[in-house]
Parts: sequence; structure tokens; C-alpha cells
Amino acid sequence: CRTNPRRLGDSGHWTTNSDRRIDKIISPIIDKGDLNILDSTVKDIGKDLRSRITIIEKNGKVIADSKANPKSMENHLDRPEVVSAITNGFGTAIRHSFSVDKDMMYVASPLKINDKKVVITRLSVFMDDYITFINNLEQNILKIILISLFITIFLAIILSKTITKPINILVSDTNKVAEGDFSIRSNIKTNDELELLGNSFNKMIEKLDELFTQTVNQKDELNKIISSIQEGLVVIDKSGIITLSNESFNNIIGLKSLKGKSYKEVIRDENVIKIIKNMIISNTNITNELEFKGEYYICNGNLINDNNELVIIFNNISNLKKLENIKRDFVVNVSHELRTPLTVINGYIETLEDEVDDKNKKYVNIIKNHTKRLINIVQDLLIISELEQKNTTLDISEVNVTELVENLKSTFEQKLKEKNINLNFNIENDLHGFYADSFKLDQIFINLIDNSIKYSEKGSIEVQIKKEDSNIKIEISDTGLGIPEKDQERIFERFYTVDKSRSRQYSGTGLGLSIVKHIVNLHKGKIELVSKLNNGSKFIITLPKNQN
Ligand code: ADP
Repeated sequence: CRTNPRRLGDSGHWTTNSDRRIDKIISPIIDKGDLNILDSTVKDIGKDLRSRITIIEKNGKVIADSKANPKSMENHLDRPEVVSAITNGFGTAIRHSFSVDKDMMYVASPLKINDKKVVITRLSVFMDDYITFINNLEQNILKIILISLFITIFLAIILSKTITKPINILVSDTNKVAEGDFSIRSNIKTNDELELLGNSFNKMIEKLDELFTQTVNQKDELNKIISSIQEGLVVIDKSGIITLSNESFNNIIGLKSLKGKSYKEVIRDENVIKIIKNMIISNTNITNELEFKGEYYICNGNLINDNNELVIIFNNISNLKKLENIKRDFVVNVSHELRTPLTVINGYIETLEDEVDDKNKKYVNIIKNHTKRLINIVQDLLIISELEQKNTTLDISEVNVTELVENLKSTFEQKLKEKNINLNFNIENDLHGFYADSFKLDQIFINLIDNSIKYSEKGSIEVQIKKEDSNIKIEISDTGLGIPEKDQERIFERFYTVDKSRSRQYSGTGLGLSIVKHIVNLHKGKIELVSKLNNGSKFIITLPKNQN
């Protein structure tokens, strides 16, 4: 019975519990040395266990066996399980048993009796029983795994339902809020973190609703304010599309809905389009006066939103313009009416001057001075009114600078002599090709040189004319009273005088510099002033060399 012995691994351990129970029973019997009792006991236990038990001495001699007579059994020292039990303390083997014609599994282990004697107890079972046991075990394990799997899946479904359902509700609520429905409130009652999440969601929606209502109210308020503004208001983005306009602006344009349209498409006035285009390009806040459909507007353009949008306010100043025109007409009419009587009065005064006695001469002189002042005012008013006319044109011709200088010298000769002041000219030789309105240019020189003489007690006046790139630069400087810094900004305004007494003392009108500025502007030039009180003044005029 020793064919194909096979070693069993730890699977043989299932027999060790039976071994130990047998060990306890047979140990005292072996200790006593009663082999007959030992054999019958082993046979009894073998019947109970439905397996064969063999007790073998260390030398291989069988001393008891549950199935056979030990005396007739051969030495077992060659059995692998026995050898392994002696050397390793435990041995197993599977081999075919020819006596029962079945595969058997043997499990052997040493048994120490009172620290003296060692015997080997061997348990043999049918492999069929073992395989049936293992199969049963496998089936049971499979059943347990299947049941566990089923329970796990079932629990997972239940769990996922309890978690995903409220999450799905929350997702659908969030979508409704995203569509603008702020009345939605979460109703999750799971008594866990999801319920807390639902509560937080509700608080967030309440806050959002509050903020949204606030924003809508503010927007409404702003819209009401914008539409109630009398001035036309339009917002244009960088690409020229109107993003907002109020009713007043729509009325100016004569269209109802302007939002989303290009300003060029709705305005259709080359001049206005050009002004707006400049405002968009220039990237600064600009104020412009313009005429549109027979009305006059002051346009104020302000850049907002990081210079991406331009807000333009159209303020209708047509009434002001009308008033201004009436005023100008009135001034012109009055000046015209006054001119003749004043000239007549002046004539009488000159006659009277020669005839009055010395006592009355001083009064005649006072009347003469005041009349002269009045004549000057009337003259200046007429000049300025003419310059301010909308359709004032320039009579352009090439300027004869030599002639101009000669005229100025003779005009001021008397006055210069009276005050002992020198008038020096520094004129660049090659000034041909300088085109301007000669009559108006004369006026500039007369007014400025006259002022220099008026407001200087001594010293000299320098007049310099030279070319500078494509411009003509004129500088008139004196060593006179000078102009305080605080007045310099307003000095070119109509009727502005540094101080009344100074002006009256020198019979000024406060219109001279205003006339100069007008003429310079008409020539598309510029005028600057450099002056210090008591330290002279210098007026610098730059005019384009020709007026193309
Ligand atoms: P006015 O007829 O009073 O001179 P202007 O418009 O010519 O009026 O000048 C305005 C004011 O500027 C004058 O009142 C005067 O005080 C001052 N002003 C003008 N030119 C000079 C100058 N060259 N030197 C000092 N002050 C001057």
C-alpha cells in the first residue's frame, strides 16, 4: 500500500484536533504498558471517528491499530508520514491503499508519554470523505460569498438611493435657481450632512433672492433717473454699438429703440459722427459744442468701464445760443448807434479844447479821455462782434512783413516818443510764403504793442518774427508792469482786466487781448503768455505759415 505517496500541506491540520483527543485517552494506557487495552481502546475510538488509528513506536513497530491486528502488521518506519513525524514533529501523506482499494490520507504526529517514551499516532481517512468534506466546504464558502454579495449589492442600492435621491433633488433645485426661480427651497429630511447641505442651500437662495431683488430695485431706480434726465444720454461701446440711451436722446435722434445699433447708423450726421469718433479714439474725457438738426448741444463724453464705454451727455444749449445771438446783435446795434454821436462829441471836444480857458481845460480833458475810452469800447465791441459772427471769413493774402513793420513804426511813433520807449524789430530775412488775413494780423500787432506801451513806464519793446518749421512765430515782449500769475489764465476773456483801476488809468477796455485771441484762433494758431508781475510780459503767437 505504498504507491504514489503525496505530501499534504497544512490541509492536514483538520486531523490534529482528533489526534489531541486520542492522545489524551491513550497516553495513560501507553504509560502503563498495557498493549491489549491500548489496542481495544484504539479500535473503539476508530469506530467512533469513522477513521483508522494506528499507534507506532519510534522504531516503526505497530503497537495498536483500529482496523487490524498490530502483531501481523509490518514495520512502519518506511512510511513517509511516520518519518516526517519523527524528524519534523508532523507528517502527512496521501497514497492508494490496496487493502481497501481507495486513496487514503495519513496524518501522523509524535506523542510524548511522561517525557520518557515517544510514540507516533497516525490517523487515516478516506480521500473520498476528505474530498466530499472539502467540496462541501467549498460549496458552503460559495454560498456565503453569494449571500454576502447579494446583501452588499442590496445595501449599496439602498445606500445609493438614500444619498443620490436627495442629491438629485438638490441638483434639480439648483437648476431651477439658475433659471431664475428664487422661490425654490430644499426639503431634504435625511437627518444627516445632506440635510445640513439642504439648509445651507436654502440660506444661500434666500441671500441670493435678497441681493437680486436689491439689484433689480437699484437698476429700476437708475433707469428711472436716467430716463428722467432732461439731457440726452447715450452709452457707446468701443466698437461703436449703443448699449444704453435715454428717452431724451431717442427724441434728439428721432428713433425709439437704439440699443444694439451702431451710432453711425442712427446719427447720420458726418460732423457729429466725427466728433463722437474722436471721443472714442482719444481715450480722454472731452467736451464739444455741436449742431444737430438745427439745435445746438454741448456734448460731454466720459469714458467708463476701463475706457471700454463712452457716456455722452447731450445738453441742449439752443436757447442759450439764441440769447447769446440776441445779446451780440444788441451789442452790435448799440455800438453802431453810439459810434456816430460819440464821434460828433469827440469833434466838439476837440473844438472846445482850443477855446476854453485854462481853468476849464482840465474838465474838458477829463471829458475827452472818457469819450476816447467810450469810442475805444465801441470800436472794440464792433470788432469782436464781427469776429464772433458764425460766418466770419479770413481774407487771406501773402503778408508783406516789411510794410507791416513800417506801418507799426509810424502808428506808434507819437506814443513811443511820449513815453520814451524804444520799439525794436527783429525780423527774419526770408519770410516769404507767409499767408494770413493782413488786416486782422495788423490788429494783433496793434493791440499787443499798444498794451506794451500802455503798461510800461520805461524800457523797450522787442518784436520778433521768425519761421519755425511750417509755422511763423511772433514774439512781443516788454519790460513793463507784467501780469500776476493768478490773472494769466483769464487774461484773454472778454472784459477781463487785471485790476479795474490799472485798466481805467490806462484807458483800457478789457477787449484787446480777447480780439487778439479770436484772430489767432481764426488762423488756427495759438497764443501763449510768459509774464511776471513788475518784470515785463512776453506774448508768443504761433501761426501756420499758410492757411490751406
Ligand atoms: P485793456 O484794454 O484793458 O488793455 P486787454 O484785453 O488788452 O484790455 O488786456 C487785459 C488786461 O491785461 C489789461 O487790463 C492789463 O491789465 C493786462 N495787460 C495786457 N497786456 C499787458 C502788458 N503788456 N503788460 C501788462 N499788463 C498787460
